[in-house]
Amino acid sequence: MPSSAAQPLLVGQGLPQFDAIGAEQVGQAIPLLLEQLHAQLTALETSLERRLDGAGATPLGWDELMDPLHQLGERLRWSWGVVSHLNGVCHTPELREAHQQQQGAVVQFGNRAGQSRPIYRALQALEQRSASLDPAQCRILEAALRDMRLRGVGLERSEQDAFNAASERLSELATAFGNHVLDATNGWSLSLSSEDQLDGLPTSLRDLLAQAARDAGEQGWRLGLDMPRVVPFLKYSRRRDLREQVYRAQVSRASSGELDNRPLIEQILELKRGQAHRLGYANWAEVSLASKMAGSVGDVEALLEQLRAAAYPVAQQELEALAACAARHGAAEASEIRPWDVSYWAEVLRQESFNLDSEALRPWFSLEQVLQGLFGLCQRLFDIRIVASEPGEAPLWHGDVRYFRVLDAGCGEPLAGFYLDPYSRPGSKRGGAWMDECLGRSRTAAGAAVLPVAYLICNQSPPVGETPSLMTFEEVETLFHEFGHGLQHMLTTVERPQAAGINNIEWDAVELPSQFMENWCYDRATLMGMARHWQSGEPLPEAEYQKLLAARTFMGGSATLRQVHFALTDLRLHSQWTPTCGQSPEQVRREIARTTTVLEPIPEDAFLCAFSHIFAGGYSAGYYSYKWAEVLSADAFSAFEEVGLDQEEEIVATGRRFRDTVLSLGGSCSPAEVFEAFRGRPPSSEALIRHSGLAIV
Ligand SMILES: [Zn+2]
Repeated sequence: MPSSAAQPLLVGQGLPQFDAIGAEQVGQAIPLLLEQLHAQLTALETSLERRLDGAGATPLGWDELMDPLHQLGERLRWSWGVVSHLNGVCHTPELREAHQQQQGAVVQFGNRAGQSRPIYRALQALEQRSASLDPAQCRILEAALRDMRLRGVGLERSEQDAFNAASERLSELATAFGNHVLDATNGWSLSLSSEDQLDGLPTSLRDLLAQAARDAGEQGWRLGLDMPRVVPFLKYSRRRDLREQVYRAQVSRASSGELDNRPLIEQILELKRGQAHRLGYANWAEVSLASKMAGSVGDVEALLEQLRAAAYPVAQQELEALAACAARHGAAEASEIRPWDVSYWAEVLRQESFNLDSEALRPWFSLEQVLQGLFGLCQRLFDIRIVASEPGEAPLWHGDVRYFRVLDAGCGEPLAGFYLDPYSRPGSKRGGAWMDECLGRSRTAAGAAVLPVAYLICNQSPPVGETPSLMTFEEVETLFHEFGHGLQHMLTTVERPQAAGINNIEWDAVELPSQFMENWCYDRATLMGMARHWQSGEPLPEAEYQKLLAARTFMGGSATLRQVHFALTDLRLHSQWTPTCGQSPEQVRREIARTTTVLEPIPEDAFLCAFSHIFAGGYSAGYYSYKWAEVLSADAFSAFEEVGLDQEEEIVATGRRFRDTVLSLGGSCSPAEVFEAFRGRPPSSEALIRHSGLAIV
């Protein structure tokens, strides 16, 4: 067996030696690691069974069960985490191949541990003695038991076999669903051959369409249904006939012929209902909510109804405003706005109302200025100081990457560290932005503190020559968002790693600190403090700031209503629909549409057939989480508004309280308790409704 010095992927602690890890190490180390972990799991199971079945033994303790269990998971997390991380930020074809080859075995290990009966029995035995545990331990134990129950560990053998067979079938159906959507999306194209068909399109989109044509061996331009082409086309094309054609194709994807997803939808819903019954729940929505902050289907319905009632009249006014705008332009659409007109006229109206060019604001947001603003805000609110590391202090995976240390601003004590990898690198780095855990807060066997370290990954424009990285306002918001996740990971004070940072936090509450941080981008002092022209040093003109504020709520009613429509459809299908209810899933959706859309879906609109979030992703009966977490983040920010954003002393005190509750307590207590500890009362949707430019009804 190679020693850990020879095998950097098996070190299992500390900052990884990124430059020493490639596809070859993955192929060698991961099978070896899994072999060791399987052997350790078997040994743990054997010893637990001996303890549980042995007469007169002393009761099982936390240290004998939860610690070794955590260590097993942590060894895998550390090693596989590095592989997944590198696969995301600097992949090569070889690394991707190696990652894919090992992934099945990694998942299999997780499944084995998750359905281990000896571990389940030992957890139950520990639960019997929960009087001796502290509240954080109780929550960790409860979550472990719940997760195993939801994996079917408590079922009789024959029931468990049926449960596992259905799980497997569900994962096949999810894959098929996703493939149908992909094939249907890729299977449609429209060749454009004359300039007048491109009327209104920006250069970037023309280039994209021309490239797509060349790739297909065609002349001219080629339109498709993928997001990068269809979204800007519907927004900018002045050709109503073409917008209609592409819109009709888009909303009817995967709803006919071999790629028809309708039979799959019914099978998926029916299988999930069966799984819920096996687990002792009335429906799949209850299974989903068992591990979330929302207590019941009724709670979620109530929130969605508040948002719907507030958004509906505003969305109607917004539609009227679009028609009025079309009328001012003498367009035929004025008499009746159709679904394929909405994006187009919304963009025309947006340009007219705000004249806000997001590209033109870039010079005011150089990365250095934005980081200074962000770090200064964190110092002001949370009493932390962020300093760049010295060269060579931490191993890096790319020349773009920087490492920072986080210190307590008062006593100078080190608290955490983070990597920032800000720029896009097409071809070797995954798109999007995310925060991930490099190291979690914990203690070594010898009792030494391990400080948390986060990965913060963005995909903004790199510097060009002498010009630094200049960000769009959206990129600034994204950085603040991910930094909010990072703060929760880094400022945790929880000593138990299973509940430290973002661990053990309910899914519908985990976006609280991230969305909370986004709010500060609109705070005058924060924004004007950091928005300085990178050459002249001039502050952002007041008029531009006002436009940013106004643009934030533009078409806010329609946007909220759209999310409510999706969330409610998802929830009802997973709580109310049965094969004998007398309605097809599509009919259920259309009924919901009567009160959650201001433009009725056209007859061929088969939106469900492409609703991959819930049928091919992990969002079933969980789509509402977006709005749920937004209620929390908006309400948390409103605590600062209430004391007055210009009242420095109050802001500082409120910031410290946010650090001591939301950012500190992680998953050690319920999100409702954490929220109340900060806000002094349960969450209210009032602030979100107000921030969305709506009024409470
Ligand atoms: Zn997030």
